Amino acid sequence: MTTQQVLMGQGAVIVAHPDDECLWASAVFGCKPGTHAICCTIPRKDPERIAWFALACAELGAVPLVVPVVEPAADEPLDHLSLLQLEDMKYDWVVTHNERGEYGHRHHQDVHWYVRDHAPRGARVFAFGYGLPAEGPRITMHVDMDFKLRALRKYNHTSKTDTAPKWQALLSRYPGTDRESLVPVSARPWCRPLDRS
Ligand SMILES: [Zn+2]
Repeated sequence: MTTQQVLMGQGAVIVAHPDDECLWASAVFGCKPGTHAICCTIPRKDPERIAWFALACAELGAVPLVVPVVEPAADEPLDHLSLLQLEDMKYDWVVTHNERGEYGHRHHQDVHWYVRDHAPRGARVFAFGYGLPAEGPRITMHVDMDFKLRALRKYNHTSKTDTAPKWQALLSRYPGTDRESLVPVSARPWCRPLDRS
């Protein structure tokens, strides 16, 4: 099955931070123009990233949406996600972080559980494959690196924690982002069950 067949109808990619949309889901936008990109926080250390998010989305052909709340410290929970009111949105599918938070980021994990527990009724839920074990169902997507880098390079500032432009720092910090995949959340029985009553 192609990504286009799996992602039928209107959907959204829901991420914790600006730049996550480029790192883990560029191929979703590549094959589904008009997909919504929902960013759940404004960065604390480099809030200018929210402006680059809009520019990156323009490159990706995505519709940018931002939850206008400044992120807490990395070890504190995201407790504002209910502002998104995701249950009331009319999406056929949503794609988000996985339960490991790709590389263990607490805020990625918080977004995963929020989306998982509050997905619109009937929407199919997928998680980014990055950082998950290889076993189990997985939809491998074709990554057009030119397309991905055009969007990622919009994050061209050098933040206080990096010595290189953000996009370059991200690529070296997280090797393997030239591969992207989706994992159906329903196929991950070792995760706690949905609380959708
Ligand atoms: Zn992130």
